[in-house]
Amino acid sequence: MTLPDISAEANLTLFGKILRKEIPANIVYEDDLCLAFRDITPQAPTHILIIPKKHIPNLADATPEDHALLGHLLIKTKEIAASEGLTNGYRTVINTGEDGGQTVYHLHIHLLGGRSLSWPPG
Ligand code: 5GP
Repeated sequence: MTLPDISAEANLTLFGKILRKEIPANIVYEDDLCLAFRDITPQAPTHILIIPKKHIPNLADATPEDHALLGHLLIKTKEIAASEGLTNGYRTVINTGEDGGQTVYHLHIHLLGGRSLSWPPG
């Protein structure tokens, strides 16, 4: 897998700025491919965002080339859930586009846990 260049396009969004450490975030995990940090407006006792360093606006823009990267994000998400002690379960959410309620156009997985979550979402 090619390592991402976060110097240019990733800077287009707020999360790009967090990736470049231009604005602060409470980072819980980082590797060559992804960054995980706590949501500024947590919707559950644990609310972490897992983002690729490659700038992909949302899931609809992912390509077959991103196959391994998307798998990596999910595996890291479950590892972070374990490290957060979410032994009773958790929810993962990827909001996509306007109807999906996406507000930041840099692909991200929400990891929510630490309380019982209702379904269906609003
Ligand atoms: P979306 O609505 O696009 O699925 O999720 C964007 C998330 O980013 C929201 O849950 C929102 O609270 C979070 N967020 C927005 N601005 C910031 C910020 O400056 N720092 C952090 N850590 N999270 C942010």
